[in-house]
Amino acid sequence: DQGINLCKLLSGSEGTLAFTTEIVLQLTQVPPKRSAMVVTHYKTLEDCLMDVAPLMANSLHTCEMMDKVILDCTKNNRTQLANRFFVEGDPEALLMLEVKSDTEEDLARQLEKLLQTVKASGLSYASPILKDGDVNKAIELRKAGLGLLGNIVGDRKAVACIEDTAVALEDLKDFIGEFSEIMKGYGQDAVYYAHAGAGELHLRPILNLKKSADVGLFRDITTDVARLTKKYNGSFSGEHGDGIVRAEFIPLMIGEKNYELLKRIKSYFDPHNIFNPGKIVDAFPMDESLRYEVDREEPEISTMMDFSDSEGILKAAEKCNGSGDCRKTHQVSGAMCPSYHATKNEKDTTRGRANTLREFLTSSEKPNKFNNKELKEVFDLCLSCKACSSECPSNVDVATLKAEFLYQYQEENGYPLRGKLFAYNTKLNRLGSKMAGITNAVYDSKILGGLIKRSAGVATERNLPKVFKVDFDKELQKANNQSIKAKSKLVLYIDEFTNYLDVELGRDAIEVLTRLGYEVELFYGESGRTYISKGFLRQAKKLAAKNLEQLSVLTDKGLPILGLEPSAILSFRDEYKRFGLDKGKMDAVAANSFLIEEFLAKEIQLGHITADQFTTEAKTVKIHTHCHQKSISNQKVTFDVLNLPQNYSVSIISSGCCGMAGSFGYEKEHYEVSMQVGELKLFPAVRKAASDVIIA
Ligand code: SF4
Ligand code: SF4
Repeated sequence: DQGINLCKLLSGSEGTLAFTTEIVLQLTQVPPKRSAMVVTHYKTLEDCLMDVAPLMANSLHTCEMMDKVILDCTKNNRTQLANRFFVEGDPEALLMLEVKSDTEEDLARQLEKLLQTVKASGLSYASPILKDGDVNKAIELRKAGLGLLGNIVGDRKAVACIEDTAVALEDLKDFIGEFSEIMKGYGQDAVYYAHAGAGELHLRPILNLKKSADVGLFRDITTDVARLTKKYNGSFSGEHGDGIVRAEFIPLMIGEKNYELLKRIKSYFDPHNIFNPGKIVDAFPMDESLRYEVDREEPEISTMMDFSDSEGILKAAEKCNGSGDCRKTHQVSGAMCPSYHATKNEKDTTRGRANTLREFLTSSEKPNKFNNKELKEVFDLCLSCKACSSECPSNVDVATLKAEFLYQYQEENGYPLRGKLFAYNTKLNRLGSKMAGITNAVYDSKILGGLIKRSAGVATERNLPKVFKVDFDKELQKANNQSIKAKSKLVLYIDEFTNYLDVELGRDAIEVLTRLGYEVELFYGESGRTYISKGFLRQAKKLAAKNLEQLSVLTDKGLPILGLEPSAILSFRDEYKRFGLDKGKMDAVAANSFLIEEFLAKEIQLGHITADQFTTEAKTVKIHTHCHQKSISNQKVTFDVLNLPQNYSVSIISSGCCGMAGSFGYEKEHYEVSMQVGELKLFPAVRKAASDVIIA
């Protein structure tokens, strides 16, 4: 009855021995709440490695290493750029040393002791101390590092094969020395990224696995590093497991005798070789069945949008390295990927979409490789929220891939009526706003509104958005008469949504800006967002070109352009760059286009706007920001602005997408998924909020 506990055997078996239907977890203590981090900066890698052992004499919760190559990768990722705030100068390597405790006193004592060790070794040139939320940001940066290494433009990629070696701490320096020699011998620049405190080194060679020569190197480098790891009695799969790529080296690592034992165990558990065959024992060769046909002729694919930043749309899709970050559930931080959060179907992940597109662009024999209904199916539930463009470590931007796909597909198969109605929505709103009362009455009418919805394929559960007619020039005139201009001039962009739908926002923005003393000029224009999201790219490009000409005149005068609707103003910084327009003008406009919050937060920081200009009334505000703001800008600017009034208590709702995503939530067949997405985080948070809480 004592039985044998097979947990360790099964948990290391990578699914080759059994199919698990139930797991009882033994929990460990939750780590102490208080944490602080010292980030030591080094001028050389050797200095960094020499520091590991003495620093580990402290009771460190974390000791992580990042080198310059990885740190540089984080410069090109919008999310991670903000997390680099603590990096001083241009270090060759840094160590993140975290201490934790339940009490402030003990934390301070540990920190003091750690700093003494840092000082005694004298090897680091800077050692900033991070606390609270800043520690998490540094950890985020470290976690993103390895994935970002995969974000290299072109066919040469950081390849997983030797990225999981671990040796005893005291051997780490010599091991890395020999490791570097091997890499040098293969003409590879070594990249160091390590759980240094555990002797675990994450390193990937940069190879082009489309070419046979590099496939050869893939095997040679892996073999040499396996032998080196064996020499140091280390582990070749310290934390990630063996998979296919390392399984064939198991006999080398553990010896033939032990390997035979593994084979016997497998034969007892799984005599018919059903469970995860080809892993651990009788392994598949590491260099067969690779993603690309080796030495293939690269398909030529022309696109409407410019994908040259990825060397073409195929390589933009190939950027997905399969890491599966887009399969994280909604309980984990981040907004990627709402459709998967709702359906839990691989087809609805960023990865599913990127890989299906890659497959068809590579293998389809149709003259227009986009013209495949399977692609339509995988893109169907993408909400174009853009979370992937910043949260995916490879910055796979499915929203843009979808826009191009829709364009190409519809060019072949025609543009559907509902797509046209949404794309040309602004024209309809302009017309409807001329008789706003009648239009809104029709929209509200059960019979007429219902008829419109049913014939347009709009979910009957939704209300059609009301239209308004507002003369913003008059509004500005009125506001100007009531305020004194003491500050600089700026441009407020009245986009298509502000102009006819969310008119209150436009009025309020005019009032706030003029009362704060800014001289406001209005710029009217349709951003093209409705066309982009429906794949009407010719129309979007035309608008972008027109807007760019007019906006560049304003930015040439040094005027900042402030926008209210994130998906409109942020298109100037995002999709407009893909329309092959004048680069000089484009860069200037992109650099001078801001969300109103971005501008105001900066002004607050500079002391140009102060709390005494606002109410002292007490209010509780909870913020839910637009998906494009989360992805292309950040939420903190909104927090900073709303947090300015003295007695405002502000927090950010940890929400992803609301589920509406432009027209998505209106579309009949998408209504259910749209509601599921909203229910994941936002709706419960709003319901939970007291009635006097402002949801912003
Ligand atoms: S698309 Fe998903 S699987 Fe692919 S790299 Fe991005 S997060 Fe990883
Ligand atoms: S744009 Fe949003 S919904 Fe579409 S793949 Fe990316 S994260 Fe998922």
